[in-house]
Amino acid sequence: MVAAQASGSCAPTTCLPAVKGFLETSFIDWPGKLCAILFLGGCNFRCPFCHNHPLVLTSEGMETIPFEEILRRLAARKKWLQGVCISGGEPTLSPGLPAMIARLKAEGWAIKLDTNGSRPEVLAQLLGDNLLDMVAMDVKTVLEQDKYERCTGCSVDLEAIQQSIDLLAHSAIPHEFRMTIAPRLHTEEDIVAWTRQFDRTRSRLTLQNFNPRTTLDALFEKEQGFVPEIFSSLVALVA
Ligand code: SF4
Repeated sequence: MVAAQASGSCAPTTCLPAVKGFLETSFIDWPGKLCAILFLGGCNFRCPFCHNHPLVLTSEGMETIPFEEILRRLAARKKWLQGVCISGGEPTLSPGLPAMIARLKAEGWAIKLDTNGSRPEVLAQLLGDNLLDMVAMDVKTVLEQDKYERCTGCSVDLEAIQQSIDLLAHSAIPHEFRMTIAPRLHTEEDIVAWTRQFDRTRSRLTLQNFNPRTTLDALFEKEQGFVPEIFSSLVALVA
């Protein structure tokens, strides 16, 4: 049986990740499904536009929600919730992620994973063990080293990102590749080049407009997203 503690004497792979946030109902995070969201702390990227930066930078100081409490609250909503989304931060950094998902699966929950795609070996394990029902991978920009690192605020292994893309693109489960775009970071040419990296008959692509509300890099709070007309024209490029 899997241990339910977030920390303690258990081995890292069976010790469940500390859940730092719990949203009981979301209409928008899993296309077509009403889901709950668990937020795990820690991330290996430092995207300047990140809205979840407390989870990225200071999650150790945040309260941990006991996993058994989450299971209870989920069970109370079983009639109308259709799945659980695991987000972050970057969930694949938590060694106990497969054990946590297995526990949720054992309770009958469908699982969506949000990931930045930097840990293809974890993604491969989760897919191989049939632990995922949907994956949303944030692809930050075209796979060019300079551009990617400007968007993530750190050095990035682009081969790992490509491996994660390939894993999802060839998997049988529903998936989407998402990109948050900002005028300071993305051009129309970038988006066109990005769409060419995918077989759109198999993979759904989604653009999200940058929102300057509370960003990891405070300088980005002075930036603006694309104006609606331009954003619409960019969305049309990926449709
Ligand atoms: S937006 Fe970037 S920094 Fe924030 S959680 Fe996602 S990958 Fe990590």
